[in-house]
Amino acid sequence: MPTVLVLATFADAVPSRATLELLTLARRVGDPVVVVLEEVSEAAAAVLAAHGVTRVLSVQDPAFDAYLVAPKSEALTQVVDAVGPALVLLTSSVEGKEVAGRLAVRLGASLVTDAVDLDADGTATKSVFAGGWTTRARGGRDVGVVTVKPNSVTPEPVEGWSPVAVEPVAVTLSDAARGARITARDPRAGSGRPGLTEATVVVSGGRGTGGDFAEVEALADALGGAVGASRAAVDAGWYPHAYQVGQTGTTVSPQLYVAAGISGAIQHRAGMQTSKAVVAINSDGEAPIFALADLGVVGDLHEVLDAVVAGLKAD
Ligand code: FAD
Repeated sequence: MPTVLVLATFADAVPSRATLELLTLARRVGDPVVVVLEEVSEAAAAVLAAHGVTRVLSVQDPAFDAYLVAPKSEALTQVVDAVGPALVLLTSSVEGKEVAGRLAVRLGASLVTDAVDLDADGTATKSVFAGGWTTRARGGRDVGVVTVKPNSVTPEPVEGWSPVAVEPVAVTLSDAARGARITARDPRAGSGRPGLTEATVVVSGGRGTGGDFAEVEALADALGGAVGASRAAVDAGWYPHAYQVGQTGTTVSPQLYVAAGISGAIQHRAGMQTSKAVVAINSDGEAPIFALADLGVVGDLHEVLDAVVAGLKAD
């Protein structure tokens, strides 16, 4: 069986759902070995083992603490050299894709990004042109690097697993990899919300918010979700571009997408129409977003969101 190396990401010290999805896909191809760039508790290792992991490698270095991809890709390159996987799987987050690109260049590996499915022979399925086409791609190099969009598959635990010991792995990082420094942070980064691409719930606000995202953020927090924004809201300076959903922003595919005060322009839909369920709140009953909504609410978004959040808190 070939080895499949999975870069695990953690949320609050437990493996993220996106990681468990990667493991479910990895098991189709071979033996999943996980590399974690942080400390791994016994409980976290047990969750990984319950999803079929045969080895858990923990690499720790202060350089991984910040959003710095150079040290992570350099460390991963060394782990790949030591483990010899046929395939490396990462999450299609902003960071995951950047690490994957650097890793593929370092390894001379093939790279497929934004896969939504994986066959036993490593062939990746991609959904392109806003879901209009499905393509299939398989790398021709000895090692393949594939990033997989979160929420693509349902994580499946294995039966009859046994505990896996965590193996510390030492890496040597170059001065160049350690050279980058964080000089400023977006205060929203400390909001505790999940990343936009990994979130299972995304609540997005558009021009209809009038610039007041308080209720949008309140619903996102009540549901443990991420906040998104339309380009109109971003262009108005109400929310940073990193949160823009759409053709020229981020593509999301959560279990639930809530569009509040967003008309549903084709460029916005391109970034969210593969969401599993869409709820639209708009004061205009003719807004195009209602055409793809599973549930539509015609009304003022501030009032509707206030009522929903109050209802959730009362439960
Ligand atoms: P609007 O279209 O102005 O819609 C606002 C909606 O809010 C209306 O439907 C209105 O009825 C409703 N509303 C108003 N007040 C309330 C209220 N109180 N309560 C409830 N509803 C209310 N857009 C993106 O989003 N992402 C992209 O990545 C993107 N890329 C683009 C790329 C290109 C090349 C181009 C040309 C455009 C792109 N756009 C993108 C812009 C896109 O065409 C739209 O202009 C944009 O999505 C509109 O944003 P919106 O829905 O928030 O605003």
